[in-house]
Amino acid sequence: MAVKNFIPPRRLLLGPGPSMVHPRVLRALSTPLLGHLDPVFLAIMDEIQALLRFVFQTKNRFTIAVSGTGSAGMEASIVNIVEPGDSVIVGVNGVFGMRWASVVERCGGKALRVEAPWGQIIEPDAVEQVLQRSGPVKAVAIVHAETSTGAWQPLEPISQLCRKHDSLFLVDAVTSLGGASVEIDQWNIDVCYSATQKCLSCPPGLSPFTLSDRALAAIKARRVPCQSWYLDMALIEGYWAEGTRAYHHTAPISMLYALREALRLVEEEGLSGRFARHQRNSDALIAGLTELGLEPLSPIGHRVPTLTCVTVPAHIPEAEIRANLLSTYGIEVGGGLGPLKGKVWRIGLMGESSTEAHVLTLLNALETLFLRSGWLSTPGVALQAASQIYSRRV
Ligand SMILES: *Cc1c(COP(=O)(O)O)cnc(C)c1O
Repeated sequence: MAVKNFIPPRRLLLGPGPSMVHPRVLRALSTPLLGHLDPVFLAIMDEIQALLRFVFQTKNRFTIAVSGTGSAGMEASIVNIVEPGDSVIVGVNGVFGMRWASVVERCGGKALRVEAPWGQIIEPDAVEQVLQRSGPVKAVAIVHAETSTGAWQPLEPISQLCRKHDSLFLVDAVTSLGGASVEIDQWNIDVCYSATQKCLSCPPGLSPFTLSDRALAAIKARRVPCQSWYLDMALIEGYWAEGTRAYHHTAPISMLYALREALRLVEEEGLSGRFARHQRNSDALIAGLTELGLEPLSPIGHRVPTLTCVTVPAHIPEAEIRANLLSTYGIEVGGGLGPLKGKVWRIGLMGESSTEAHVLTLLNALETLFLRSGWLSTPGVALQAASQIYSRRV
């Protein structure tokens, strides 16, 4: 079979992930392999753990990269903590909360869903009501940045409830880690996972993962073994922990090189500078989109700075415009999932994708398409609104 050489077309990735990858990360991916038990590689793992503790803002000893995408981290958070019959409160205000609840049920747990309309946050009061009227609740699972709706969940109030009711606090930080502050220790988060291809701007394939000592104790006290062998953290600890370093499964060597380089880039930029960059580009994007009649689904104050979900007016054929953005301009943005299909665009400004140049490029392309179709009469309004944000002093 003569399969031709493949060179991917040029793309500007401004969807819900994957995001653009820095050339240094691509270079790291192509460096020669080491064995997964080579002492030099083990030292690389130590560095990755230290860098992950830095982005997670934690001292947790158990801070690793799970082999697999963000969903592997989601699965690991439940299979390790939940035993058959355990109750888990899951905040459901979008696709990822729905999935998490389904994982709980597949593990034989009881998912107590606390729902909110898509685009809105989970109200701490609603969580507290369930905590009060249910028996013991093993864990409360909350998505920090709901990528399907753009809702940004405040975590501290729910963290306090978890402490009060002696439940573990599980957080999905897939679309926030590396783009917005995720303070594991400060917010008393017990289990948290992310994914490399969102705000860390690395290809997909690893899930940064951290466990508090409370979570570790719960895992050690299990009555029945974790139903997943591959994601059993009690076993995986033997590979990552200093001193043991025993083979469990072959580490994805090249992906770990890539993650290390991506985390070095985060460290060089600094967390606060990085978060400010994401916020500023998000503000400029929203200012521009608003001029085009595209309003964020989530209310002010609860908008994820790394992913903007805007409602597309009914007269605009959203799928057609999205396809046009891709074919004419090479720009990828996301469509809606589930009940939001055909109704929203999801624009990610994550990691390397979050730049002023990318914001202006996208707004310019949208303005051009909107003018051509007669949905916009004055050229330049979106670019001007965004520029105004950029001309503010930092
Ligand atoms: C993308 C995403 C996931 C799933 O991650 P994959 O890498 O696609 O497996 C989970 N949670 C949230 C909030 C996400 O955005």
